[in-house]
Amino acid sequence: MDATIWLFRCMACGHEYENEVRKDEDKERSCPDCRSNSIRQLKRKPAAKGESDARTEA
Ligand SMILES: [Zn+2]
Repeated sequence: MDATIWLFRCMACGHEYENEVRKDEDKERSCPDCRSNSIRQLKRKPAAKGESDARTEA
């Protein structure tokens, strides 16, 4: 229930997409376009507070 929309970018093909991420989600992401898993998490979608920035951990 506690999912947030995040923006992701594929580093392989440059495709950007939004995806729901749950707090405890732990699955590997892959580009819906080219299936690469070089995905970078960009930012949260809802205009919340700009605090607690995205820390991309591989
Ligand atoms: Zn891609």
